[in-house]
Amino acid sequence: MDCIFCKIIEGSIPSKKVFENEHVLAFHDIQPAAPVHILLIPKKHIATMNDVTDEDDALMAELLRAARHVANELGVAESGYRLVNNCNSDGGQVVYHLHIHLLGGEKLKGLG
Ligand code: 5GP
Repeated sequence: MDCIFCKIIEGSIPSKKVFENEHVLAFHDIQPAAPVHILLIPKKHIATMNDVTDEDDALMAELLRAARHVANELGVAESGYRLVNNCNSDGGQVVYHLHIHLLGGEKLKGLG
């Protein structure tokens, strides 16, 4: 499959991993938009948030559990952080393998 994140999971594209378990991988974004910028992805290839099904409920919970863990490990839990999912073209999605951005390490600008 021609998916950058699947290649990161299988190891043919290198990444700076911060967390990994059977179902989830987290690694540093190659073009950080904040001092802390981590991508959390399911190992299962799911293209967008629209493609998540009820069967993925446990997987989605695991992604969020991993986000909390990584925020703690990287020392941004107390100061705060932002979780973002970009869905499809208007949402700004570029890589079509579901991912959550974890951004922190500075006062982030408001969304409005
Ligand atoms: P999207 O816009 O799809 O929500 O975000 C995709 C993110 O993946 C971008 O922030 C981009 O910098 C990151 N990215 C794209 N290719 C690679 C890569 O090969 N390695 C890593 N670590 N991040 C990547």
